[in-house]
Amino acid sequence: MARRINLWLVLVAAVVCTLTARADDAGIIALEHVTIVDVQAGKLLPDQTVVWQRSRIMATGPSKSLAAPVKAQRVDGAGRFVMPGLWDMHVHVGTPEAAADELTLPMFIANGVTSVRDMSDYIAGPDYRYSGAITTKRWDAEARAGLRVGPRVISTASLVVDGPALLRRRPELPAFLGAGTPEDARELVRYLVDESPVDSIKVYSGLPRASFFALMDEARQHGITVVGHKPLGVDFIEAVNAGQRSIEHAREILLDSFPGAAQLQRDFEARQAPPGERDQPPAVLTRVLREHDPKMLRAIFAAMKKHDTYYVPTHLTRRFDWLAVAGDQKMLNDPRLQLIHPTAVKRALKDVEQTRARASGPADAAAYQAFFEKGLEVTRLAYQAGVNVLAGTDTGDSFCFPGSALLEELELMASSGLSPAEVLRTATITPARYANRSNDFGGVSAGKIADLLVLDANPLADIRNVHATRMVVFNGRLFERAELDEILAGVAQKARSFNKGE
Ligand SMILES: [Zn+2]
Repeated sequence: MARRINLWLVLVAAVVCTLTARADDAGIIALEHVTIVDVQAGKLLPDQTVVWQRSRIMATGPSKSLAAPVKAQRVDGAGRFVMPGLWDMHVHVGTPEAAADELTLPMFIANGVTSVRDMSDYIAGPDYRYSGAITTKRWDAEARAGLRVGPRVISTASLVVDGPALLRRRPELPAFLGAGTPEDARELVRYLVDESPVDSIKVYSGLPRASFFALMDEARQHGITVVGHKPLGVDFIEAVNAGQRSIEHAREILLDSFPGAAQLQRDFEARQAPPGERDQPPAVLTRVLREHDPKMLRAIFAAMKKHDTYYVPTHLTRRFDWLAVAGDQKMLNDPRLQLIHPTAVKRALKDVEQTRARASGPADAAAYQAFFEKGLEVTRLAYQAGVNVLAGTDTGDSFCFPGSALLEELELMASSGLSPAEVLRTATITPARYANRSNDFGGVSAGKIADLLVLDANPLADIRNVHATRMVVFNGRLFERAELDEILAGVAQKARSFNKGE
């Protein structure tokens, strides 16, 4: 009997030793002599060592006093700058049919975007209950496990809740998905909470007022967040007061800060215009800017601040409108079109055509340009008013390319007058706070998850330096420049094969 116990003790001790040995030594990486970019303080900490093990940062400190653990893989960071990985807070990851897993996901990592928020679900099978979010979530889990190259998908949103227009397009779908009535809206919320894998509800421009308020009430009772467009028939402050957690695009904020806003809302509500007939013509945009009321804008900001609402301006979407109307050749011949799926290229070019059917000529282009530029000003004012501003791109939409679009969006934010540190917060600290993950993300310090971007140049000196990607760390996995180049080459090759119809 005694021998047996001893044997057990030996076995247990052996197991414990093995575990300890593994926990002590495996997967430790030390990035040495690197400059840490403190995005919160807007300061640099030169000559630091950052040590992480698997997915967590163990320690950071001056390289002269913090020695790398004996078993660590040592990486020279001299002359480089390390900051938290970037988040793109408005993307449409896409479907397996469009090869999103092979073309889209790797491009986020190659550009230093380590987390994304997916903004719409899709029907992935013969029945509306086949949720595309199941696949999106699987991709997220596989990326975190190191089985594929892709970002974290920190949350997924429902099918776009756009009111009865959905049923006109897809009459086979159950009525409640359209949320055309308050009862349907409530049923939709209960369905999404009980039977769907999505994390939030995506409301859209066409959702009728009464349905919106019923949906918000039911969502609050079930504790699910509501994100997306501000419905066109609802006043901006009403949507904020009702508890919408994030509101996307600068468009509605501008349409709701001029004296004609209430009339536009009533007109929309009376007409229930389907998608495609909702966009205001250039003359209305010009009027909206001419009659813009800073007091109304400040009242919107005050409400957003009070309710802790997040604002995702997506400047790229309005720049697209402008450049499409202007027939901008640089955009139309963007070489990145060769890196996305042929169906996405076709859709983008059709979007250009439809936009130009609504507006064309220098005067219209100037109206769209002014609307885009006013959006930049609104972002700066929102930030200065203390509103939570998030960087987002609408990747998946026309001429919004995975990963690199976020870097463009950051440049646009900087052109609005925000400092580089302020801009970087919209893609690091503020998204982490949005996701209730401030303990895990948003800084380069012990205890945080090792999602890092290593740059060749100082992003606080010039925001364009976010393009100077030297290394990316995702969940502790290190991608050096050569591996990032391999990812880019792999995507280019894959996209070529789709374009040739292979
Ligand atoms: Zn979108």
